[in-house]
Amino acid sequence: MSKFQVCATRREVIAGALAATATSLLPHGVYAAEFHRFTHGQFDITVVSDGFITLPAEVLLPDATPDERATIIKRLGGDLQAAPVQANIPLIRQGSDLILVDDGSGTHFQASAGKLVENLKTLGVDPADITKVIFTHAHPDHSGATTTAEGRVLYPNAQYYVSSVEWEFWTDKNYEAHMPAALHEFARGAQRDLFAVKDRLTLVIPGDEIVSGISAIGTPGHTPGHISLELAGDGNLLITGDACTNDIIFFEHPNWHFGFDTDAEVALKSRRTLLEQAAAGKIKMLGYHWTYPGVGYAERKDSAYRFIAA
Ligand SMILES: [Zn+2]
Repeated sequence: MSKFQVCATRREVIAGALAATATSLLPHGVYAAEFHRFTHGQFDITVVSDGFITLPAEVLLPDATPDERATIIKRLGGDLQAAPVQANIPLIRQGSDLILVDDGSGTHFQASAGKLVENLKTLGVDPADITKVIFTHAHPDHSGATTTAEGRVLYPNAQYYVSSVEWEFWTDKNYEAHMPAALHEFARGAQRDLFAVKDRLTLVIPGDEIVSGISAIGTPGHTPGHISLELAGDGNLLITGDACTNDIIFFEHPNWHFGFDTDAEVALKSRRTLLEQAAAGKIKMLGYHWTYPGVGYAERKDSAYRFIAA
């Protein structure tokens, strides 16, 4: 049996639930109305919202008791069935480069997301201004905006970067044979996104310095080739993608699984290592589905962590 089939049954249930999830829940916290901007070393970073997505409670909290689930879903601003999580995309200025880490959902996922371009325009940034897009992984809420609804590349002047393991995983001709049917749509989306920019896509491996001062760190499990990014500065900044999917859930429960992790146990190990190292080194992090703007620290609390906003 493939290691990716471990949670197949649960994921089939989950994917069905996701398809049926309403997107009318209101996100908690502030997003899009203002922009969180900070400098880190040579980088000027603005956290731009792509909007929010709604995930079923079963995906967010598969290991929680009914009471824990109810309490946490309420903190997330959801109801018993589902909750909204935000999508925080860092826009990084460095010299003449204007870099996005992930490009969001575009028109290819839930309608409550795909707001990045309009928010960039509020900042005076046109899609043609973007010089680089670095993917943490190729799920539809992270790479879905690579093309428009008409199939045109949205950022016409950008170079793209993804890990070589991620590329191999999604473009594997045998993907459908060893992944459950409910996840085939994810592969079709990833192939749409990655093939669209194939001629300007650089494959990277953990340890590579993608841009001067921005290095790839391997944080596999959510997807096999998931990477986080380490930005050099006065103490490093870690852009964590979906290695630790949500601040409210996983800092306090670092041993809980997340329903959309491709390899649940590898993802758990990556998450725990990330939080452990971030807490020990007082490393600033920026998380994709964390409460906007998703910038903060992990502070050890008993056998878990507290999220401390920066
Ligand atoms: Zn995500």
